[in-house]
Amino acid sequence: MAKRFSVIFIPEGNSKVRRVRIRSGVIKSVLCGCFVVAGLLAFFAYSYFNFTVDRDELQRLRVTTSQQRQTLQYLVVDLEGIHQQMASLAETEARVRQLADLDAVSEGVPVAIGGLPEVGSMEAVDEIQRQIDRLQVEIELRRQSQENVRNLLNDQVSLSRATPKGWPTKGWLTSYFGMRKSPFTGRRVMHEGLDIAANIGTPVVATADGIVARVKYSPGYGKMLIIDHGYGYRTIFGHTSKILVKAGQKIKRGDLIAKVGNTGRSTGSHLHYELRLNGVPIDPRKTL
Ligand SMILES: [Zn+2]
Repeated sequence: MAKRFSVIFIPEGNSKVRRVRIRSGVIKSVLCGCFVVAGLLAFFAYSYFNFTVDRDELQRLRVTTSQQRQTLQYLVVDLEGIHQQMASLAETEARVRQLADLDAVSEGVPVAIGGLPEVGSMEAVDEIQRQIDRLQVEIELRRQSQENVRNLLNDQVSLSRATPKGWPTKGWLTSYFGMRKSPFTGRRVMHEGLDIAANIGTPVVATADGIVARVKYSPGYGKMLIIDHGYGYRTIFGHTSKILVKAGQKIKRGDLIAKVGNTGRSTGSHLHYELRLNGVPIDPRKTL
């Protein structure tokens, strides 16, 4: 490579041509300098660009964090509201259980979960999740308990509807439940029901919900009918003049089922009313 270069300036017109001699070392140095400056400029430009991106990202993150903090705050407030609602539900339920004569619900999970998390703390989200899990357990417990109460109340209602109660006809008692002298044989025999004297044709009604088990004629009871009420209860109506229901028919307490008569072994117009529990005759007087 040549040691020197010449740069020639050729002006227009008549001026003299100029010639500048430059050593190759100087050219190399100038070129190197240019490269270094260009590199530095590129580095600074790149750094500035990165800085700007980071600053925007930081700004965005700050906004997001602030929004998340606010969301957490709302969640904590909601959670507190749910706790209060659960506590009020539990209180109502305890009163219902007391009314229904049920034991208090087993204390599996405390109703109120104290100590709501500090918003902004790292554990806040975990703690909220834990409390939501516990609330779900609590809700399930409440649901089961309420189902128990509902079932029990349903049972009580059906039992109450199936238990004979009240007079089967309008009349007056002429013969009680127990040992008595038979009007036919004169011997002491067990009278397994009540005799209610009433005019022929007086309406006879069911004393509880049930199903007509039998409708038949027997020499003793005359035109008779038996109603099965479930829970072991049966009622028997004898000496009727007319039976207005059929075997297998569903009936409700108060439904008209027959008319008072004088059929079978009877000494006058009356209704023979019998009540049996698990097949054993019991005194219906207590249920009138
Ligand atoms: Zn009788």
